[in-house]
Amino acid sequence: MKKIVSILFISLYLVSCSTVPITGRKRFNMVSDDQVLPMSFAQYKGFLAKNKLSTNTKMTNEVKSVGARISKAVDKFMRANGMKKEANKYRWEFNLVEDKQLNAWCMPGGKVVFYTGIMPVCKNVDGIAAVMGHEVAHAFAKHGQERMSSATLQKLGGVAVAVGTSKKDPKTAQLWNLAYGVGSQLGMLAYSRTHETEADKLGMVFMIMAGYQPEEAINVWIRMSERSKGAKKPPEFLSTHPSNQTRIKTLRAFLPEAKRLATKYNR
Ligand SMILES: [Zn+2]
Repeated sequence: MKKIVSILFISLYLVSCSTVPITGRKRFNMVSDDQVLPMSFAQYKGFLAKNKLSTNTKMTNEVKSVGARISKAVDKFMRANGMKKEANKYRWEFNLVEDKQLNAWCMPGGKVVFYTGIMPVCKNVDGIAAVMGHEVAHAFAKHGQERMSSATLQKLGGVAVAVGTSKKDPKTAQLWNLAYGVGSQLGMLAYSRTHETEADKLGMVFMIMAGYQPEEAINVWIRMSERSKGAKKPPEFLSTHPSNQTRIKTLRAFLPEAKRLATKYNR
């Protein structure tokens, strides 16, 4: 029996392994788009119904137009790199919500929310593009699905995998809650540092592809760290992220490579 279980786990692992495009990192994802996207879209709709959209038309339009340009770059990349089927499943949407929290997020399938609280840190459209690129990159690299997959292994065990493959199964909903912390005001749980660094790098490539100034990504983190100085607790966006100094250093070092990749993929 034990042997059968380990063989099952090994084969499950093998079929669920894939590579993150662009960065080449090996990931473990056994959650399909068909399982996660309907749930993501429903959660997003529910979130918008319960929260107030910003009445600031200028800022709202900026978020929407930056989102449109960045998602166009991501879409272009996917279609040019054998991911057409996946690209067709995205339902990009960008909204600015009235909330003092210094935060933004993107659910699987391209559902983005910016809080008005993060806008002063973004400061300009290039800054919005930096945060947008980062959030969109989490969805692009399927970090949420990866987290759901490890939650399955850790908390629910192998049985849930078999059960959870049915679309309407409550186990799938349970997995979603484990991965996203639905119900918490933030709406999202922390990503790991590996995911954060990866989102920073991919985000920088996407913002360059969309025609924005990547240097502003570094300035966003500088402004973010100034904000958090003297604050009782770090802004939500930072509490779970790598330290600002590490992040700024990594982005500075990655800038030439990001430019090279963006040129390559924009051809
Ligand atoms: Zn992040």
